[in-house]
Amino acid sequence: MITDCHVHIQPVEMFKPEALAIMKKKRPNFDDILEYCRSPKAFLAYLDRCGIDRAVLINYVAPEVIGFTSGVNAFVADYCKANPQRLIPCGSLHPRHTHNVLADVEQIVRLGIRLIKIHSSYQLLFPNDYLKGVKELEIIYRAAEANGIPVMFHTGTSIFPGARNKYGDPIFVDDVAVDFPKLKILLAHGGRPLWMDTAFFLIRRHPNVFLDISGIPPKTLLKYFPRLPEIANKTLFGTDWPGPGVPEIKKNLDDFRALPLDGAIKHQILSATALSIWPV
Ligand SMILES: [Zn+2]
Repeated sequence: MITDCHVHIQPVEMFKPEALAIMKKKRPNFDDILEYCRSPKAFLAYLDRCGIDRAVLINYVAPEVIGFTSGVNAFVADYCKANPQRLIPCGSLHPRHTHNVLADVEQIVRLGIRLIKIHSSYQLLFPNDYLKGVKELEIIYRAAEANGIPVMFHTGTSIFPGARNKYGDPIFVDDVAVDFPKLKILLAHGGRPLWMDTAFFLIRRHPNVFLDISGIPPKTLLKYFPRLPEIANKTLFGTDWPGPGVPEIKKNLDDFRALPLDGAIKHQILSATALSIWPV
C-alpha cells in the first residue's frame, strides 16, 4: 500500500492567471493534468500506471497569491467520493478569509476532510500567529486536534509570484507542536532548501511532528537528510506533483526506490507511516 501524501489535484479554474502561466510553462503535458483535475477516473488510472495506491490531494485557501477560495473544500471532498479508499481529501481554512471559523471548521469535519493544509507563504501568515492575536488559527488547530485531523504546513521556499518566503521557515511550527501536543503536524518539503536542519530538529524534538519529503528530489534526499533512517517512522513519501519542476510520480518513486536505504526503511516511508496517519 504505497501512499503519495502530497499531490495537487485542484480546481484549476480558480488559479490566478500568473500562477496558471507558471504551471503551463513548466508542464509539457498540461492538458493531461487538466483532465486529471476534472476526472477522478482518469487520475486513478494515472496512479495505477505510476504504481501508487493512495494519494492525498492537497488543497489550500489562498485567494491573494494563487486564487483558491474555500470552495476547494467542497471540490476535493466531492472528487474523493469517486474512491475514498484511494483518494484522501486535504482541505484548508484561511484565518483572514472566514466569517465564522467555527462553522467553517465544522464544515471541514462534515465533508470528511482528512488533512488540513496551512500554506503560510501563500496565506501570508506565520503558523504561530495565534500568539499574536489571530484567534482563528488557534480555533483551527484546536478543532483539528480534537477531531484527529492532521495539519500540514508548507515549509521551504516557493517561486510563485507574490509568495513570501519568510513564512516558510519551519521554526514557527515549533510553537504549534508545543501548544497542540496531540495534533499531528506534517512538515511539507522538510524546509527545502534553506531550513532542512530546522525541520530535522523539529521532527526529532516533537513526537507529533512528521516529515513529508515531497518536493525534494529523491536523489538529493540523503544529502539533505543524511540521518533519514533515524526519523523513518515519522517520514512520509510524497511528490508534490504536478508542481513546477517536479518530475512524474513514477520517476520520483523509482528514484526513491533506488536510494541506498534498507528495505524496511523504504517500506516505512512509502507505506507504513502514511497508514499510521490515515488508516485504511
Ligand atoms: Zn505542494
